[in-house]
Amino acid sequence: MKIKLWGVRGSYPTPLKNEAIENKIYKALSLARPGDISSEEAVRKYIARLPYSTKHTYGGNTTCIEVRTSSGEIIIIDCGSGVAKLGRELMSEGFGQGKGTANIFITHTHWDHIHGLPFFPPIYVPGNNFNFYSPMPDLEDRLIYQHKNSHFPVPFEGMGATKRFFTVGVDEYFHINDVKIFSKLMPHPGGAYGIRIEDGNSVFVFSSDCEFSLNEMEKISSFDKLLRDADILVFDAQYTFDESVIDKFSWGHSSASIAIDIASSFNVKNLLLFHHDPEYDDDKLDSILYNANSYVQMNKNIRKDMTIDLAKEGDEFVLD
Ligand SMILES: [Zn+2]
Ligand SMILES: [Zn+2]
Repeated sequence: MKIKLWGVRGSYPTPLKNEAIENKIYKALSLARPGDISSEEAVRKYIARLPYSTKHTYGGNTTCIEVRTSSGEIIIIDCGSGVAKLGRELMSEGFGQGKGTANIFITHTHWDHIHGLPFFPPIYVPGNNFNFYSPMPDLEDRLIYQHKNSHFPVPFEGMGATKRFFTVGVDEYFHINDVKIFSKLMPHPGGAYGIRIEDGNSVFVFSSDCEFSLNEMEKISSFDKLLRDADILVFDAQYTFDESVIDKFSWGHSSASIAIDIASSFNVKNLLLFHHDPEYDDDKLDSILYNANSYVQMNKNIRKDMTIDLAKEGDEFVLD
């Protein structure tokens, strides 16, 4: 199973601000020694050595994840703004000739999880097939609503690909060919569904847009089937701990420390902190990761063999 992150930002797309770009240039130039910039090759090598957040950004596009299973199925999780770029890449495959088929699982229809769909080029190409899966029985109506002419010039039916809708059960498995998929209702305003994809022995879990308050933590054992033994868990960590329990309590999102507690207790191997707050720049996200690792070191109950990282737009993972 291959996984690629096309959008990792929460709430709304977040382009880099001018001040942030200036800061990155300032940091890179401040760190450079004369030999680092003596030739084009030296400059390239120097850039390669720079810290991630100095030379890159964690990403500004909203939720979209591409999963390719070992049998070649494409499963797209959510259609935030990241799906536009994924769509342009798919157009260079069979989707450009109307010969593509992909499955799309929609976790919920908050704008940041569907607002990229009108800008997804393959869905305009007749001959392509998109199978939509969701526990929401009215998903098609919700997507049609997004395309009403008061919101977008092309109606949902006007996009030429064939679109089929499948309502799946909650707390039970469904199958896409030989892949087992399980979905679970998460604590989030209006509801959102976590998804577990099992491909052979590999397990990928996407669990964003979820708020685990102390009340929810008392019921955490009911999430065992979703989270247990995931090779990769993508988990909502939009807020800092203080925000999640005080200022932004009941806004529907969790924090890194809550994500770590939960991931560790369910024997997750790799945790990716996801749904970055649009107000957080790359430096702030660095500090969140630093604090997350400090939290692990200070807390003897957290497993030390679990890796923790920030979800980065463009990152790819392969699970055997
Ligand atoms: Zn969201
Ligand atoms: Zn949401």
